Amino acid sequence: MSIVKRLPIMTDLNKYICVNPFTYTEITVDKQHMCCDAWMPLNIKTKGDFKDNWNSDKSISARNSMLDGSFKYCSTDKCPHLNSVTHNDKPSGPIRVKTDALVKELTEQNKEMKAEIETLKSINSL
Ligand code: SF4
Repeated sequence: MSIVKRLPIMTDLNKYICVNPFTYTEITVDKQHMCCDAWMPLNIKTKGDFKDNWNSDKSISARNSMLDGSFKYCSTDKCPHLNSVTHNDKPSGPIRVKTDALVKELTEQNKEMKAEIETLKSINSL
């Protein structure tokens, strides 16, 4: 598992959620991430394809780290958005104030992204 630097956090991060692990992925030759890998170095690559990576235990754990407010895979010093929240209690970029409506919306978007990945996979196999 990747180690991220964690500065002391004075803010209640459970008030916030970052949308990236629900909506974003970066694919390189031998890795897949849910954010810039310098900010969130968790590599979600499995032995399967990118759909398997997106649905892997690591990916689910990353999303759960947003739902439980731990942000445990995110670097507090390298991610400027998390840094802003931890120092100024002000959300920026993909970090939003967590509401029930937003959690519901992200859950729905994640389902849609799964469907789009399924479509891409079937197109690529033609
Ligand atoms: S909080 Fe920062 S490091 Fe974590 S997923 Fe969001 S943008 Fe990436």
